[in-house]
Amino acid sequence: MRILRTIAEVRAVVENTRHAGHRVGLVPTMGAFHDGHVSLMREARKNNDLVVVSLFVNPTQFGANEDLSSYPRDEHADAARAEQEGVDILFAPDAAEIYPDGFATSIHVSGVTEMLDGASRGPHHFDGVATVVTKLFGIVRPDVAYFGQKDAQQIAVIRRLVRDLDLDVRIEASPIVREADGLAMSSRNVYLDPAARAQATVLNRALDAAAALHESGERDGDSILKAAGRVLADEGITPEYLELRDALTLQTVTRVEDDALLAVAARVGAARLIDNHILKRSA
Ligand code: AMP
Repeated sequence: MRILRTIAEVRAVVENTRHAGHRVGLVPTMGAFHDGHVSLMREARKNNDLVVVSLFVNPTQFGANEDLSSYPRDEHADAARAEQEGVDILFAPDAAEIYPDGFATSIHVSGVTEMLDGASRGPHHFDGVATVVTKLFGIVRPDVAYFGQKDAQQIAVIRRLVRDLDLDVRIEASPIVREADGLAMSSRNVYLDPAARAQATVLNRALDAAAALHESGERDGDSILKAAGRVLADEGITPEYLELRDALTLQTVTRVEDDALLAVAARVGAARLIDNHILKRSA
């Protein structure tokens, strides 16, 4: 595996691969790898000739009061993990490589960014995500890019972006990887002290309760949300949001007839956590 820092180096390697007719897969990440990241690397490894993993803690997607400076960083361990998974290139640029002096462009996707994390973290968040992902697509020009369902709204934003800008890349979404007790894996889980770590399973438990009610035939959105809300309240957790949305358009759903995204965000101890379930139409 090669660790590359510059856009020019990545371009050179990818061009060679492409000329040989090979398929390029990209896994964008902010590092501090866990099994969720690894599941994306494995998908990419199975289906591509060249696997590029980007490791970049993207400053533009963090708000002024968010955790940019404390975000967990361990490039050494990440490189070892990526190498073990057969990744070909770890692209780990510094911020000036991605945002050089004079950088003046921002990509704003409308319609799927105003709600959920867009409302809770502010519009800069998905502008930052859309901008850096567009740049990564321009740098690597992957055939396929891999994202986790953990960040369900991010996937909706990127699918919209790819369609609207006619970007020649296929987007693959991978299921949420969880700890044995159901907590969705996240780089931010390191912020949880033991008491908060124990409490953090409440997000998935709340989603499970709602999903069980849906499976039993309930279609009323309010009732489904209340089932999840009760589980959160029992743990003393007030969510930043707990919402049912159409899985593709992210529009509000009041009756669950089609696939619906049940999404939650909450502060637990020192961490802001997100999680979601897809309530399947067939259920
Ligand atoms: P991050 O480094 O947190 O920006 O995540 C990089 C990619 O890994 C994103 O596409 C995330 O959605 C995905 N990811 C993060 N956590 C998980 C998880 N628990 N299961 C599956 N994918 C994940």
